[in-house]
Amino acid sequence: PKSEKENTSVAKIKVVVRKRPLNKKEIARKEEDVVTVSDNSLTVHEPKLKVDLTAYVENHEFCFDAVLDEDVSNDEVYRATIEPIIPIIFQRTKATCFAYGQTGSGKTYTMKPLPIRAVEDLMRLLRQPVYSNQRFKLWLSYFEIYGGKLFDLLSERKKLCMREDGRQQVCIVGLQEYEVSDVQIVKDFIEKGNAERSTGSTGANEESSRSHAILQLVVKKHVEVKETRRKNNDAKELPGKVVGKISFIDLAGSERGADTTDNDRQTRIEGAEINKSLLALKECIRALDNDQLHIPFRGSKLTEVLRDSVGSCEHTLNTLRYADRVK
Ligand code: ADP
Ligand code: MG
Repeated sequence: PKSEKENTSVAKIKVVVRKRPLNKKEIARKEEDVVTVSDNSLTVHEPKLKVDLTAYVENHEFCFDAVLDEDVSNDEVYRATIEPIIPIIFQRTKATCFAYGQTGSGKTYTMKPLPIRAVEDLMRLLRQPVYSNQRFKLWLSYFEIYGGKLFDLLSERKKLCMREDGRQQVCIVGLQEYEVSDVQIVKDFIEKGNAERSTGSTGANEESSRSHAILQLVVKKHVEVKETRRKNNDAKELPGKVVGKISFIDLAGSERGADTTDNDRQTRIEGAEINKSLLALKECIRALDNDQLHIPFRGSKLTEVLRDSVGSCEHTLNTLRYADRVK
């Protein structure tokens, strides 16, 4: 956020929970639905079938910014999460949306339509006169973090490395960015990228559960310069300056961390790495939520990649605190 005022208009961290319906397997096994949603809270009940009548039945209630029941559409998910931040992306905001949960909980199902809807809305805004004459362009990249390493999902899994420039901007060297001219391109890129995701050592059916997939939409402002020295005097475009960014992160399955006792060495290493990155993410979110001065993004590749999205906020907070002390 650019100023304190804007800071308060959109919450810094918002947690939205989506309940998924029981799947066919769970129904076939006659499993019981133990989650009830009401307003912004959900209650987890002890399964009736397993509870001894004399046993104490405990219900656990949890509150979040929003809880979406199993009948909500993907569009409603979009409206509860991404839609409110779309306009401020043009105001130097860097936002990140995570899907967190166990394998099979619906992370990919939930995440996939979000960037598509975001592009629709961003492009609609870009066509408005106030933006259309400012030479804004929308760019897309898609990569994954697997075993602590970065791979480009839109460029034959090319290995990438990360560095920081002096101004705390994260630069992923070699990452391909594609200009987004219509929504269909985004759909195609997501399909292509998802097909490239890591299958891991135990085979294809586990697919994406062992890597973090990061899709970024970046709004850049392009400056037109006339090269007068050149005879034909045609316009040349400079690379463009990042104005705002949204990162969509389909995290590795949260159960993976517990896999560190697995017999297979490779699976164990993967599990340890995922454990480390999810823990590092939790620590950063906690630090951010507590308005701490130091955000420990060095804890993992995942949080390092997010340094500029989190770091800009850290910078704003430091500035505000400093301003508060000196006044
Ligand atoms: P994850 O990415 O967390 O491992 P998936 O997104 O692949 O999980 O979802 C697992 C399965 O459940 C998929 O077949 C998906 O279509 C289905 N599913 C997930 N969430 C929902 C939902 N809200 N409504 C209907 N089906 C869902
Ligand atoms: Mg998935």
